[in-house]
Amino acid sequence: DGHIVIVGAGQAGTLTAEALRSGGFSGAITLLGDEPHGPYHRPPLSKAWLAGEVGDAQLMLRAPEMLAKKGITLRTGVQVEAMDRTSATLRLAGGETLAYTGLVLATGATPRRLPLDGGDAPNVLPLRSKDDASAIAAALARCAEQALPVVVIGGGFIGLEVAATARKKGLAVTVLEAAPRLLGRVLSPGLSAWYAALHRSHGVQLVLDARIDRIDTSDGLASAVVMADGTRHACGLVVLGVGVSANDGLAAAAGLACERGIIVDACGRTADPRIVAAGDCTARRLDDGSLLRLESVQNATEQAKSAAAALLGQPRPFTATPWFWSDQYNKKLQMAGLSAGADAWAVRGDMDSGASFSVYHYRGGRLIAVDSVNAAKDHLQARKLLDAGVSPTPAQASDSRFDLGSLLA
Ligand code: FAD
Repeated sequence: DGHIVIVGAGQAGTLTAEALRSGGFSGAITLLGDEPHGPYHRPPLSKAWLAGEVGDAQLMLRAPEMLAKKGITLRTGVQVEAMDRTSATLRLAGGETLAYTGLVLATGATPRRLPLDGGDAPNVLPLRSKDDASAIAAALARCAEQALPVVVIGGGFIGLEVAATARKKGLAVTVLEAAPRLLGRVLSPGLSAWYAALHRSHGVQLVLDARIDRIDTSDGLASAVVMADGTRHACGLVVLGVGVSANDGLAAAAGLACERGIIVDACGRTADPRIVAAGDCTARRLDDGSLLRLESVQNATEQAKSAAAALLGQPRPFTATPWFWSDQYNKKLQMAGLSAGADAWAVRGDMDSGASFSVYHYRGGRLIAVDSVNAAKDHLQARKLLDAGVSPTPAQASDSRFDLGSLLA
């Protein structure tokens, strides 16, 4: 019946293993992860877990016993060093060779570092794994004890979530963003400004257009981030939130096409019929030839289902509207669709008070995305509208008395 090996025991790898079983695969499934932990949820690492509001138990994605019950062999602390497509084998660190009949690459991504002087001090920390988050939690505790500020480099989702969590703990926080606005690649200018105001209202010192020169150290630890204009931001911890690179090295070395990720089609297939890929390690080739890279739980989950289906010979393209969320302070942002290229916007609800509102993004008169803040109903409806290709007019979208659901009837 064969042996399907999955490299990477994160969101995508774990769900692919389960989808293979529920899809009827009766052969052996081995799920290999290089971290010491079993599969866990990453999103809380910058939010509720870092804030101390949930514990380790709530991080767990699947208990190892549950995987065992499904006949999925989980091996943690195992790194795959190379793959040989001709012999259909993997080489594991330590020298073991593992043969596969089907292979799933679900290797995730690695946070980028910055080539700055002082950038490799031990209190300059990225956030990807549970171990990263534990190191940041310990550093936050030390900052609290010694009244040292936190500097976050990068005003993307992870950086801003850590900033909000550190403010909740009462720490002084500076966010340095190189671009002229926060979350510039994903939010409309209006919503970027709204997030900047939100963070400032919570006491974050926000520097846009930030040009960093170096990180000064004292006794080996980062003590200040120094800007090109000489301004110094003292720190007891620097959190790096400057994006990730897809872990596509194994695939590239084995001759699979990679470009900012392992290239897959909508069904998760690579050019090798025995190999599929899912999650943050992938870049999807769209019909117009462009590449789409998504780093989200939904993308990992949907691609996992597609990857499993492809190996089972039942291709299932992932075409659902992309969605994402982010929690900062008491605001839950939920995004549906992809807003890049929007040329017009409509706002529903009261953006000025910020209590609950949604921004509808239009391109060429068609709805392409909706970003909702504390407006879960708008978000769920937006996913349905976008999935169905139904586009309310901007006037309908901004009229909160107009029932957008009526357009779906
Ligand atoms: P991962 O979960 O990273 O799993 C890949 C695994 O493969 C890792 O354990 C890695 O160590 C392992 N691996 C890599 N190479 C090898 C190898 N050679 N051998 C063995 N194992 C290997 N998404 C949202 O939608 N909403 C959010 O609010 C959100 N918040 C986030 C907050 C944080 C702090 C982080 C880090 C991410 C967040 N994300 C969020 C993104 C989401 O967690 C990722 O998109 C998702 O985890 C991707 O799953 P994956 O399986 O592709 O990768």
